[in-house]
Amino acid sequence: MKLVRAYKTELAPDDAQLASLYRHAGAARFAYNWGLEWKSNVHLFNLLPHPRLKTPSAVDLHRELTRLKKGKLSWLYEVSKCAPQEALRDLDAAFSNFFGHRTGFPNFKSRKKRGVGSFTLYGAIRVRPGEVRLPRIGWVRLKERGYIPSRAHIKSVTVSERAKRWYVAVNVVVEERKELLPPHGPLVGVDRGLNSLAVISDGTVLENPRALRRYERKLRHLQRNLSRKRKGSSNRRKAREALARLNLRVRNTRLDAIQKFTTMLAKIKPVIVVEDLDVKNMMGNHHLARAIADAAWGEISRQLLYKTRWYGSTLITADRWYPSTKRCSRCGHMKDGGLPIEERVFHCEACSLVADRDLNAARNLAEWPGVARTLEMPVEGGVQSTAEPLIQPPGESGTISLGRGPRRWMS
Ligand SMILES: [Zn+2]
Repeated sequence: MKLVRAYKTELAPDDAQLASLYRHAGAARFAYNWGLEWKSNVHLFNLLPHPRLKTPSAVDLHRELTRLKKGKLSWLYEVSKCAPQEALRDLDAAFSNFFGHRTGFPNFKSRKKRGVGSFTLYGAIRVRPGEVRLPRIGWVRLKERGYIPSRAHIKSVTVSERAKRWYVAVNVVVEERKELLPPHGPLVGVDRGLNSLAVISDGTVLENPRALRRYERKLRHLQRNLSRKRKGSSNRRKAREALARLNLRVRNTRLDAIQKFTTMLAKIKPVIVVEDLDVKNMMGNHHLARAIADAAWGEISRQLLYKTRWYGSTLITADRWYPSTKRCSRCGHMKDGGLPIEERVFHCEACSLVADRDLNAARNLAEWPGVARTLEMPVEGGVQSTAEPLIQPPGESGTISLGRGPRRWMS
């Protein structure tokens, strides 16, 4: 079976290339909005008791766009035809999500509100150390050498902008190894943390990178700074740009830690049990720390899903009603009511266990009764024993320092 794996890294374009990147993103945005207008008109018309019109597909729209290119849209000749074409395909996907009741009606892409955006290219894409060749744009330098495999079968690239930095995601086709040997070792449960990013049932804690604390202070400072600047002034624009750059750095630092953590887990743990996340429940959360933890957790479980496939391990989701927070992981006693969010420690009234709240939940996940049903084969090493006392606050033994420590688990 073939899998597509994305390698994302930062571009270092020269001025001419930069102008072309903006043009391509502009063409993609234009095509998307142009197609959206057309499709929504048809959609509105079809709500009335008329004979129904056929909604134009990406193919129809692209044909029409190519016709217009010969006339008033001649500027589209300056960009690869893939950029508008792929944007129209995205639009098709946005509409089928809407009709499948998965999302709301597609929005127009406004540069002011949603940024420069992104575009996708197919065709003659080449990679050599430190450079990538993009159709119509040429060889563009990369800020990082050797990350993208140079002899890979490249399917497409997606180029995107964020805070004036440009990134390329190279989508590489890889053959899924058939006889993948799952890693050895005990099954583990993983719970999202509140103070940390995640906690593993064996006591390992994924800490928030230390750099984040420093950044977050600076973030607050910049935010205050921005609110003091006069609206429309160039100082306000500068403050906003500084804030956007810092936001990006915070996000990248957190993502970097998450990448290493999920790779490590998928590589060395044969079976990983996580809790089901109720998306609706999460979105309604106004508690800021919780919201950030939820976002990080969403990313962790998304990455675990594909990385367990790469490395031959198995990801199991415990059902949503399993009370992993309320249950005592040593004696199975259930607490009445829930454990309030500010309660950091789990106290068991029945067996007097005292354990970190997230660790207790992670151990419960490792003992989820549905695991045996989900797994076809027995797990070597069995389920982690929980007989020993659990007084092990996160941050002491077993802490992985991913903030600035050695890159032990880089893939
Ligand atoms: Zn107990």
